[in-house]
Amino acid sequence: MNDSLKQQITGFLADRVSALGFAPVDRFDEAPEKHHPARLCRDAATVIVFGIPIPRGVLTSPDYDLYGIHRSYHTVYRHLDEIGLALCNFIESKGAHAAIAVPSYAPLVFHGAEPWGMLSLKHAAVNAGLGAFGRSGQMYHPEYGSLLRLAGVVTSAQMPRDPIISEDPCPKGCNACQKKCPAGAFTKSGEFRKMICLPYSVKHAIYPLALKGADALNHIERVVNTAGNDYWLACDECLKACPNNRPRRQAG
Ligand code: SF4
Ligand code: SF4
Repeated sequence: MNDSLKQQITGFLADRVSALGFAPVDRFDEAPEKHHPARLCRDAATVIVFGIPIPRGVLTSPDYDLYGIHRSYHTVYRHLDEIGLALCNFIESKGAHAAIAVPSYAPLVFHGAEPWGMLSLKHAAVNAGLGAFGRSGQMYHPEYGSLLRLAGVVTSAQMPRDPIISEDPCPKGCNACQKKCPAGAFTKSGEFRKMICLPYSVKHAIYPLALKGADALNHIERVVNTAGNDYWLACDECLKACPNNRPRRQAG
């Protein structure tokens, strides 16, 4: 177990990220076979997850919340990917370890029309102790709620695990996200349906042109992973409604 490498990584990321956690690969036993850390990295031992929040100010912008989210997301995704690449090279410079970055957004893997991350960063973040799932299906960090954008690294280096957060992040009786959703993405029992939300909320100018006709599914992965990186987010109602995305503490 490499305590010293974990400390070095924590120091390396200290001024670069706002949240950081370490999960051992044995916490991924229930991951779908194709999306298990071992499919990304040979001899995978540890999944490192880190995040940077988008500013809360975009959610309360009178007219420009969606514009603010668009630029914040796509700026932080690229930034997180750069940090992931730098962290892989840092880990590999410290010994005979393999490391591979888990991208913050694309490339995505498609199962039919449904996009999946190579590794689910939300599940990895929960496994690494960064937060817990809320009723909206998102991962909520104790300070940043679901405004934390994530990326990660899978490595063959074994490092000490961080504790999991088991508390439910949702206040008792809250269902604000479900009430506000204009797409009906939640079932009556509150289950989040990704494939109702996505077509309503994720837009891209090229999709109607490039993804039409009977064989659209045959090239959806190539279209989304090349042209789709700068998608437009057309809905943020659940983000705005959620009390977990409001400030938790007074600044000093
Ligand atoms: S992003 Fe919009 S459509 Fe999707 S779950 Fe949230 S409120 Fe519903
Ligand atoms: S709006 Fe309420 S129920 Fe929905 S995720 Fe946020 S705290 Fe949980």
